[in-house]
Formats: sequence, C-alpha cells, structure tokens
Amino acid sequence: MAGSVVAVRTGAPLVALTFDDGPEPGGTDRVLAALADAGASATFFVLLTRVRRYRGLLDEVVAAGHEIALHGVDHRALPDLPVEEVARLVRSGRAELEDVTGREVRWHRPPYGRLDLRSWRAVTGAGLLPVMWGPSTWDWKDVSHAERLARSRSGLHAGAVVLAHDGFPGPEDGVDDGPAPVLDRGALVADVLAGYAELGLAARPLGVVAGHGRLVREVRLTG
Ligand SMILES: [Zn+2]
Repeated sequence: MAGSVVAVRTGAPLVALTFDDGPEPGGTDRVLAALADAGASATFFVLLTRVRRYRGLLDEVVAAGHEIALHGVDHRALPDLPVEEVARLVRSGRAELEDVTGREVRWHRPPYGRLDLRSWRAVTGAGLLPVMWGPSTWDWKDVSHAERLARSRSGLHAGAVVLAHDGFPGPEDGVDDGPAPVLDRGALVADVLAGYAELGLAARPLGVVAGHGRLVREVRLTG
C-alpha cells in the first residue's frame, strides 16, 4: 500500500505539531519562542534552499530539541518533476540535512501535499516516510486569527498531525505562490497551544508521539 502517515493511534494526550517552509527570519524565531513559552516541541519540515541561507536559525531549532524533517531541496511539487530528478533530490536532500544536523531524518512532507505513485516510491526508496496531516492552522491563507484557531481544532484528536508554517516559500525556493500572508506566527502558535492545553493536549514532535502509539497510514496520492 502506497501509504502516507496521517496520524498516530495513541491514548497519550499528545498531538504531533509540524511546521513547514522554514527556516525563515521573523517566522521561525517567533515560533521557537512561543513553543518554549508553552513548554511544547514540534517537527520542522525544512527546505534546503532555506537551510543553506539561514543555517543559524536551523541550529537554533535543533538546539531547542525539536525534530528536523525534510520538506524538500526546494518547494517544487514532486509530480511536476521528472522521476529521476525526484529520486535524486530526495536522496541528496536527506543526506545534506543529516550532514547539517548530525541526526537521522525519518520523515518527508511533499510540498503542497502532492504525491503521485512514482514520487511516493522515490521518497520511500530514499528511506523516508511521507507525512500528510489532519487539522491545520490555515496560516498560509489570508483568513482571520479566529478562523485559524477554529481550524486548528477542527478534527483534532490525540495523535493528530497538525500542519502549521514557520515560513512561506517564494522564488528563491523555485515557486511563485504569491504574497505571503501577514501574521504574527508566534502569536498564532501561542493561541493554538493554549487552545490545545484547554483540551488537555500537549504538542510534541511526530517522532515522540509515534513512540507512544502506532502510525496511521492512508493512501493519499494526487497528481
Ligand atoms: Zn510547503
């Protein structure tokens, strides 16, 4: 089965909080402060285009004890690329990230959540597991803070994989996704975490939550 991780089946009161598209100055640093204030930790799916430019920020993420995973060498959607290039990018991306962090990288989140069968094979062939998500904070869209908070709790359960962002990709990452939404990513994370705490849920990296249960996989292939 060409499955991707979508959640963790667990009785532990934990959610797997994940951030994509960093590191980014003004985003990652605020997110890190909000996580530290709440005593929370997370998984950061990073872009190598940004890791190379903002190595100091990545080092801060690692030093704070968060988990590092691969979002991509850049942000181009995998199904749009020749399959040989997908395999080469994922393999070289994993190797470069492990070299930079000195840690094993286990997870890959496909840009835009777009994964076709041949790129699923390339990702898993590189020794990585694709990770999708359940609830998200809608922090890549221009919506209100209140709507983002509501979305972050929609479909939430223990073991949920929550999608958020500490950056926004652009031409330097090989894509044109328009202007970045204007928001204080730290303030959003603080309020999301406060809402989860009211429900008795704490945020941890996917690798930690997975250690408290079993990965739930679903086939989520798109072209
Ligand atoms: Zn992304």
